[in-house]
Amino acid sequence: MSEELNHTSLQAKSPFELRVNLGQNVPESDVRTALVTGDMGFLHSFTTGSAVDGPGVRVVAWTAGCQFRCLYCHNPDTWNLANGIPVTLGQATAELRKYRQGLKVMSGGFTLSGGEPLMQDRFAVKLLAAAHAMGVHTALDTNGSLGDRLTDAELEQIDLVLLDIKSWDAERHRQVTGMDVGPVLNFARRLAGRKRPAWLRFVLVPGLTDDAENIAQIAKFAASLGNVERVDVLPFHQMGQFKWKELKLNYALSSVRPPAIEVIENACAQFRAEGLKAY
Ligand code: SF4
Repeated sequence: MSEELNHTSLQAKSPFELRVNLGQNVPESDVRTALVTGDMGFLHSFTTGSAVDGPGVRVVAWTAGCQFRCLYCHNPDTWNLANGIPVTLGQATAELRKYRQGLKVMSGGFTLSGGEPLMQDRFAVKLLAAAHAMGVHTALDTNGSLGDRLTDAELEQIDLVLLDIKSWDAERHRQVTGMDVGPVLNFARRLAGRKRPAWLRFVLVPGLTDDAENIAQIAKFAASLGNVERVDVLPFHQMGQFKWKELKLNYALSSVRPPAIEVIENACAQFRAEGLKAY
């Protein structure tokens, strides 16, 4: 394991801490084994006290690795698996166990986010199962495109899926994320078919995802599923911009401002018009 691991805490104040190269010294063969077995994972960090990543107060583990390249991503340091801290499943479980009682008392839970947690699907399954075995409510925050990596039985172990839908329009989705929307929508349909509780998350970016027709189509689709308990409209912000600069990545949205309150309200109203709870 890397020298930096000795100096970098698994705990972070927030996911906005820039973290790079913490797993770079793990041999390629060990990375491959980790991805197959799930006995080791790569985490950006653990954070506590989130009120926006599922019901109640959440402990969140942020995984490293993502195949999307969202133009507005506020954690591009999580794109690369090798940026994450290598942790054994036992270490991650022990970290979570520290909060078990508090989470139960506060009706909170554990959320696995990223990055894209299903880039490390075996680790994700094992860590969520460990949380479940502790009696802690579990949520998976995912872009949905790797949902096929989970079996139906594994889906049953996840109490809630926070599914990000970046855009309805296929071309716009590819522009925003670099990837196809089809697998995301298929995963949404599969969750619905299996009656798994889901919250939908939609990032509202002026000039990119905010056109009314795009939102109307997502709202209609979400309402048709029958398992979407709520929709979170997440206003675009610039808090991650510094990471793009530090990582020497080309950030295309530097001149985009956060959406006005009325624009956020209008988007929420479109979801509500389809009978969904939206915040
Ligand atoms: S899916 Fe999430 S972590 Fe991946 S690029 Fe998009 S915003 Fe970033």
